[in-house]
Amino acid sequence: MKETVAKFAQERIAPLVRKMDEESRMDESVLAGLFEQGLMGIEIEEQYGGPESSFFSSILVIEELAKVDPSVAVVCDIQNTLINTLLRKCGTEDQKRMYLPRLATDMVGSFCLSEVESGSDAFSLKTGAEKHKDYYVLNGSKMWISNADYAGIFLVMANANFSAGYRGITCFIVDKDTEGLQVGKKEDKLGIRASSTCAVNFDNVKVPESNILGQQGQGYKYAIGMLNEGRIGIAAQMLGLAQGCFDSTIPYLKQRVQFGKRIYDFQGMQHQISQIATQLEAARLLTYNAARLKEAGKPFIKEASMAKYFTSEF
Ligand SMILES: Cc1cc2nc3c(=O)[nH]c(=O)nc-3n(C[C@H](O)[C@H](O)[C@H](O)COP(=O)(O)OP(=O)(O)OC[C@H]3O[C@@H](n4cnc5c(N)ncnc54)[C@H](O)[C@@H]3O)c2cc1C
Repeated sequence: MKETVAKFAQERIAPLVRKMDEESRMDESVLAGLFEQGLMGIEIEEQYGGPESSFFSSILVIEELAKVDPSVAVVCDIQNTLINTLLRKCGTEDQKRMYLPRLATDMVGSFCLSEVESGSDAFSLKTGAEKHKDYYVLNGSKMWISNADYAGIFLVMANANFSAGYRGITCFIVDKDTEGLQVGKKEDKLGIRASSTCAVNFDNVKVPESNILGQQGQGYKYAIGMLNEGRIGIAAQMLGLAQGCFDSTIPYLKQRVQFGKRIYDFQGMQHQISQIATQLEAARLLTYNAARLKEAGKPFIKEASMAKYFTSEF
């Protein structure tokens, strides 16, 4: 799988990286390619049209994509480690039958938690869900929502009972075409520009009760759980990005000649190269170890945090 993804990334993504970055837009052929290759529903069970592969495979895929374009890795990471996992773990049978086959084949999902005034303090969110007979009405605004530009569904954290504090936070599945849902301005970012990061506004958005994901009031638990696993995905993105930079640099060092020698042959350069190669190896082991523990059902939160911290710092 790793080799197939590496080939796909080199042949289908690499030629578009600069254009997508300049235009701040993901090329449709890249998204289509991710679906064709089965990379958007890696763990989705065969009965819902997925390849039923492992979490570890998702991590390897994210790493390979990030070597070539971290923007593409973001799309793949969020889809696999947040959206699909939430639906697989918490969805009713009807929800799984309705959404998982689409997520595996042609539909991108977005995870909507953050708001202007609730970033790190995520559970102080203000988006509300008011209960009516058999439906809820959502009002509020989400910020910095990845993939929002091309998402078909949004998993939205909204508070259905403010008097219960964060225990009122509930996760709703909201279809893109629902009246009152509006994808707002795309952020003009410094990096990962081809990954869309947008505001998403909810203006009297009517959502049937049957579209609550899991149980009412449990959204905060789901979000914490997913963000813990999500750290391993982010570590894989950072690892791939660093490895991609390293792999692109070495050929230049071997080609550039100064003082009659390849700069690669100077001992001062070799110290730097070996230091980075060692850091890369450490980052990879931290990331894979966290993924292995998670997959084995063992405690992994500390290891996932260490992996994310180390890979994003070095
Ligand atoms: C590219 C991108 C994509 C994103 N995609 C999504 C998405 O798909 N869905 C979504 O819901 N959100 C998304 N976000 C939002 C992201 O989750 C928030 O940026 C994050 O939660 C941090 O919030 P903030 O940016 O408001 O920073 P703040 O919370 O304002 O933090 C600013 C600084 O203060 C520090 N700080 C805050 N609290 C503490 C504390 N208690 N102790 C010590 N230091 C503290 C932080 O570490 C940080 O350095 C995205 C953000 C970006 C940049």
